[in-house]
Amino acid sequence: MDNFKRIRELREKTTLPRKELQILLETMTQEDENALYESARQVRESHYGKEVYLRGLIEFTNYCKNDCLYCGIRRSNKNAQRYRLSDEEILDCSEKGYQLGFRTIVLQGGEDPFYTDKRICSLVSRIRERHPDCAVTLSIGEKPRSSYEAFFAAGAQRYLLRHETINPEHYRRLHPAELTIENRVRCLEDLRDIGFQVGCGMMVGSPFQTIGHLLDDLYFMHSFRPHMIGIGPFIPHTDTPFRDHHRGSLEDTLHLLAVIRLMHSEVLLPATTALGTIHPRGRELGILAGANVVMPNLSPAGVRGKYMLYDGKICTGDEAAECRRCMELRMEKIGYHVAISRGDSLVKDI
Ligand code: SF4
Repeated sequence: MDNFKRIRELREKTTLPRKELQILLETMTQEDENALYESARQVRESHYGKEVYLRGLIEFTNYCKNDCLYCGIRRSNKNAQRYRLSDEEILDCSEKGYQLGFRTIVLQGGEDPFYTDKRICSLVSRIRERHPDCAVTLSIGEKPRSSYEAFFAAGAQRYLLRHETINPEHYRRLHPAELTIENRVRCLEDLRDIGFQVGCGMMVGSPFQTIGHLLDDLYFMHSFRPHMIGIGPFIPHTDTPFRDHHRGSLEDTLHLLAVIRLMHSEVLLPATTALGTIHPRGRELGILAGANVVMPNLSPAGVRGKYMLYDGKICTGDEAAECRRCMELRMEKIGYHVAISRGDSLVKDI
């Protein structure tokens, strides 16, 4: 079988035998790449047209009780300048986002016990009361099921929790001993069971990652069937133990975005800020490889430079309105347009 045939079969069947998928990922020529992206765009456009969904990201705390080895805001990084946004600041950011046309607000932060469940629920319900047509997404890590139930009851409908790598051995090399892939998957299953639209995903090119790990991730996601999949290149941060590791490549990330689009035709797939960090047109290239979501920053400009998960993160100085406008222009240049809508996932629950 040649790669054109592999791409056709992947599109038709949404999966390939492991060996064939591995060959496709490892032997991609420029021609194969063009065919893969073209196919991914067709699938994406058959469901979502030329619309790109906007998510307004509010990074409300960079305190974290965890110590993931790849992360710039891990608790043992004494050089991180820590901040927390007040409830009023968070509500102001979401108000500003709403005025700019965002209909999804993403509250993202480290695992920070300062923000109790009660506080998160109050924030979620206040945003939903002010803007009933706006979805609230949470991205605040691993919690007990009871916390997820409380967040859902308060009006949060979506939750992002990257699994990072489904291989237990690889997971152990990226995380401290107290974090396990078993608990991460338990969280993902609880979230879906409760009724959330759930997002998972992994880093591309993380330390010690092999093609086998990536294939495990692709098959795990194919069986889990998330509503959203967030992937981005690994980028090292100077104040972490992985400072000297190579970053993930643009090409690998784009190949995987397109493969994921063919395996999950209706999934919400962001072209991430990390992709924009490793290449000036990374987000545009991500959209052209099948992604359909972008996540401009709504955090106050004064704190953006402090939410440094990795080195060189872009868009740390602009105001929300500038980010919004910049994204609109970038998408128009490649023939797409940002949509003022909640942009719900079309993935049906199983
Ligand atoms: S990756 Fe998330 S949980 Fe891990 S240290 Fe960073 S913010 Fe905390």
